[in-house]
Amino acid sequence: MLANLLEYDLEGLAAFCDRLGEKRFRATQLFRWIHQRGASSFDAMTDLAKPLREKLRVSSEVRGLAVTAEHRSADGTIKWLFDVGAGNAVEAVFIPEDDRGTLCISSQAGCAVGCRFCSTGHQGFSRNLGTGEIVAQLWFAEHFLRRHLRRGDRVISNVVMMGMGEPLQNYTALVPALRTMLDDHAYGLSRRRVTVSTSGVVPMMERLARDCPVALAVSLHAPTDALRDNLVPLNRKYPLDELMRTCVAYLDRAPRDFITFEYCMLDGVNDQVEQAHALVELVRGYTGPSNPNWCKFNLIPFNPFPASGLTGSPRAQIAMFARVLGDAGIVTTIRKTRGDDIEAACGQLAGDVKDRTHVAGRIAQQRTIMLKPILPAASGQKEI
Ligand code: SAH
Ligand code: SF4
Repeated sequence: MLANLLEYDLEGLAAFCDRLGEKRFRATQLFRWIHQRGASSFDAMTDLAKPLREKLRVSSEVRGLAVTAEHRSADGTIKWLFDVGAGNAVEAVFIPEDDRGTLCISSQAGCAVGCRFCSTGHQGFSRNLGTGEIVAQLWFAEHFLRRHLRRGDRVISNVVMMGMGEPLQNYTALVPALRTMLDDHAYGLSRRRVTVSTSGVVPMMERLARDCPVALAVSLHAPTDALRDNLVPLNRKYPLDELMRTCVAYLDRAPRDFITFEYCMLDGVNDQVEQAHALVELVRGYTGPSNPNWCKFNLIPFNPFPASGLTGSPRAQIAMFARVLGDAGIVTTIRKTRGDDIEAACGQLAGDVKDRTHVAGRIAQQRTIMLKPILPAASGQKEI
């Protein structure tokens, strides 16, 4: 089988070229052709000597992913469905804004964490994507958009690992993909503009801080272990205290001086004013009231899907919740929902997943478990 050159970061490509008996600067040239110019044919790489092109042709290829569907939203958002074989498909979403272009990328076909409010989680888990499959989403989108928008310069300025999957449960494939995104000979993205979003895989957060510190978003969703255990099952393994300590430690290496907490607003479940106060107490518990700025909150309106049995918080409730956090000095934003007319909004990405681990079945069972009320008299608390 031919090696797929999208699998390699620059170090990996240099090692590959070394095996072909070629010098390191050839790897840099090749890397630039592939990622900066979007080339997939070695014939197009005219400044590489013919014998080298021939060696490459017999040993390797630049193998992207087949796009099986494209959806365009009225707001300019574009969603692509990529076939990754054996009945699995993953999605990536481009979100244009005035001052930036963000690509949301998938890291796994499905997800094994199984969060209650996430449609990927409900589908179960099939497999990890390889580095080449993660990078192929960016490689395709960037060069497609340049052609489509007739732009010579860079279109995608930000990448968020917020598509399907838990990136930190696919660590070995993720890190070379991140390095390719950051490399000046490839996409040259700033570390501050590449965000890994995680449900809280503590040991891998620690490794990411050492290996490739990029911006970090942590999906919090609850102020207490009792509630978080139920919404984000990984919390049973890595509870809040451990998670919060790891977040604070990450700041020593992070490219930004804050961690973003994502919080999906679920009606009557995690959106009560008392819970906002509990969040303030939680984050103050780690750096004290004098530094509320070590984290920011991004409140995400819940994007419903039928199997969840959940509903989103009313807008006024989200605003009230945001006010409590804001009054305590915590910078809080409410995420604009983009692309919901094409099911491209957060948590709506579903692709196609052949569940091999029965995560989907486990979630269905859990739905019958009653949530213990987390606050004694929390009005509006719902069973989920
Ligand atoms: N697995 C990672 C990244 C993918 S999910 C993580 O959980 O962080 C990206 C974001 O979408 C997370 O913050 C997740 O909590 C949120 N999300 C999932 N389902 C959602 C839904 N139905 N509505 C709104 N946000 C959702
Ligand atoms: Fe997986 Fe993230 Fe969805 Fe949870 S929210 S199931 S971790 S993709």
